[in-house]
Order: sequence, then C-alpha cells, then structure tokens
Amino acid sequence: MITLANSPVIWRPFTQMQTAPPPLKVTAAEGAWLTLDDGRRILDCISSWWVTVHGHSHPTIADAIHRQSMQLEHVIFAGFTHDPAEQLVERLAQVLPKSLNRFFYSDNGSTSVEVALKIARQYWFNHGATNKTRFIGFEGGYHGDTVGAMSIGAGSPFWNPFKPLLFPVDLVAFPSTHSGDEEVLQKERSALERLDQLLGDHEEYAAIVMEPLVQGAGGMRMCREEFVANVAQRARDANVLVIFDEVMTGFGRTGEWFASLRAQTAPDIICMSKGISGGFLPLAVTVSTSDVYEAFLSDQIDKTFFHGHSYTANPLACAAAIASFDLLQQWEAFRNFEHLHERFYREHLEGHPATSAFRVKGTIAALDVVAPGEHGYFNEVGPWLKQRFLNNGFLIRPLGNTVYLMPPYCMTAGELESAYGTIKATLDELTSS
Ligand SMILES: *Cc1c(COP(=O)(O)O)cnc(C)c1O
Repeated sequence: MITLANSPVIWRPFTQMQTAPPPLKVTAAEGAWLTLDDGRRILDCISSWWVTVHGHSHPTIADAIHRQSMQLEHVIFAGFTHDPAEQLVERLAQVLPKSLNRFFYSDNGSTSVEVALKIARQYWFNHGATNKTRFIGFEGGYHGDTVGAMSIGAGSPFWNPFKPLLFPVDLVAFPSTHSGDEEVLQKERSALERLDQLLGDHEEYAAIVMEPLVQGAGGMRMCREEFVANVAQRARDANVLVIFDEVMTGFGRTGEWFASLRAQTAPDIICMSKGISGGFLPLAVTVSTSDVYEAFLSDQIDKTFFHGHSYTANPLACAAAIASFDLLQQWEAFRNFEHLHERFYREHLEGHPATSAFRVKGTIAALDVVAPGEHGYFNEVGPWLKQRFLNNGFLIRPLGNTVYLMPPYCMTAGELESAYGTIKATLDELTSS
C-alpha cells in the first residue's frame, strides 16, 4: 500500500494531473499553520480554500463534534429533526436580515446554489408564472461546479467543454473596482443600464444571482456596496427574485457577518456554506423569505420542493457550525483585518512596479501582478508565484496573476505582515529576473 502515497490514482480538484508537482502531505494543522510530513511548517493565508475561519483544529469545535458523535451521528431529515439543526438556524437568524427566515439545509456551496435556483424557478411555477424561467448572472461570477451552478457562472473560462449543456443566462458586467479607481461610477452606470435593458425587454426572468461585494474565484473582484443595493432594488422593482451567493462572503469574510449587511440590502434568497462549520465539515444552508417559502405551501403535492441530499442537516456538521458561530460571535475577529491589510499594503507594496489594482474588503485583500500575458486565471505567473510562496513557507494560491490573502481570523498581525513581506520579496524577484 505504501506505493499509493502521492500516487496519481487520486484525481485532484482543479489540477492538471500531468504537470502538477506531487502534492504536499499534511500531517497536522493548528491555528494558521500546516505541518508537513518532512517537518516543514506552512502559513495558511487562504484559509484552505476559504473555509477555515478560526484556524485549524480549533479544540472547541473538535469537542463539539466529538460530543455530538457520541449521541447522534446522523438521521434522515425528512420526517425527523434534531437539536443541532434547530439550534443552528436560531443562531443564524440572529445575524441575518430579519426578512430571511426560512432555512433549507444541504451540504456544500454548489448545492446551496442549485437549491436557490430551483426554489426561484419553482416559486414562479407555483404562482402560475410558467414563462419565468430565465436567469441573470454577472460576468466573472462563480457559483460552483455542478451543472446549474456552472450555468449561472457562465462567464467562467473553466466551462468550455460544458457550454452546450448549460441553461441560457444573460450576463451583466461586474463593475470591479480598486483603490484609486476613477472610472468606477462610469462602470456602474453602464452595468445598471444593461440590467435595466434586460429587465425592461423581458418578462421571463425568475431571478438574478450575484456574489455580493466580492467575486471570489473570478479573481477577487470587488464592487461598491451601492452597486449591490442598486442591483437588488432594480430586480425587485421588476418582479425578479434576488439571490445572493454568499458562499464565500458569509461568516465575516467582508468584515461583516454577511456582505448583505455591509451593503445594507437583503436578497430574497441567500446561499451560505464555506466558513459555516469553521472549516471542519461540509454543510450549507439556503435561506429564503417567508414570501418565497409560502409559495410552496399547498394541498397540491406538485407544489412541494422535491429536493434533498443524503446528508441534509448532518448533526455533526450542525454541531460544528454552532460551536463555530459562538466563537465568531464572541470575538468578531473578522472586524480587525481591513485596516491591517491597508496598513501592510502601504508599508510593503504600495508603488511596487509589479503591483496594480489593490483592493480590500474586510478580511480579503487582493492585487493584480503586472506580468506578461493576458490578465486572468490562465496567466502563467500564477503557478510560478504559488511555488515561490510555498518554498518560502506560505500557502498563497494566486488566481492567475491575481494574488490575494484570505487569512483565518486567528492569524496574528505579525503573521499577516510576514505574508506581505513574502509577496514583496517574490515580486522583487519577478521584476529583477
Ligand atoms: C466556492 C464557491 C461555491 C461552491 O462551493 P463548493 O462548496 O465548492 O461547492 C459557490 N459559490 C461561491 C461564491 C463560491 O466561492
């Protein structure tokens, strides 16, 4: 069996298996640090694909899972319920906009989006609006890798082989901005004009789907709060449901519990997953208004929402999420990062010839590296930078030529500053070579 170590029998996510270097073996992790089998330690600056909010192996969450597993590990969630699922939604209701108060469980970000898309479509179907079947998305949007989520994220370069299989979506430009951007109002105006045009020309839209404030996988593209609020208002005025995909932006990432709160607006449906369980176990929730929920109440069986997953509301994941929520509520440590990012950028990187378009929203900071080739996910400077960062002991995983930091909230100011230091050193190397 030893020969299976690092063997290509395991097909890895988002990985070109022919050219990727062998994966690093992690034997333990604590706080913001990963420990490798050769003893090296790596600072996790991206919260392990954006899920680890408190840091790794937090003992409070580990305890909660252990205790729950001794009592009830899982049970079918149709016709049965349990305390962890009931208690978690009570907690979520404390921090969500009051209008969002009906909770549907699933188990990952993509399924939370599929659920939202299906609820939106069936909402209109149940109201007899058989023509409302189309969706509006944003250029650069990413909503997961399942087929419905791919469809609404049609702007992504990853989906070319699947294009013929995806349902049609109309896209609006995402007016991404950065510090010192003088064109942002113009970009917003033309995006809203396009949106108005779509909404005016067609009656068949069921919903508009948006990553509010920050588009994640699309390159950590950030927009202003006002734009998010304007989009929601226009959609609502046109009788189109608003879906916010907060799978990444939820649980403090943008410096508030949810980006919706920071943008002072509320969607009809919100999707959440990454971060919900503190990064311990897969879990997702799609939350709707009571108006949406009530469209499914009927004596007629065909108005039922026929959707569910084997592990719906898994008690272990819910117990982890409750423990994680309580920790988050105690410290709200996510509020501390925005000014740290701004300060360390100013002190280490501002004016560096290889950097442009610095932007920050809460715990997330990003910049574009000036490098030959096209801006975007497939820019070849990305893999080179990633390897350099790893060699220096940092897990920083650029999206093409976009370098970003999304630390777990336990990261100290000193640790965060060291990440800025390694980015500077690596960019110095890039510009001198
Ligand atoms: C990661 C992500 C998803 C998909 O979540 P998975 O758990 O990877 O399926 C959906 N939407 C957004 C905004 C994401 O960042």
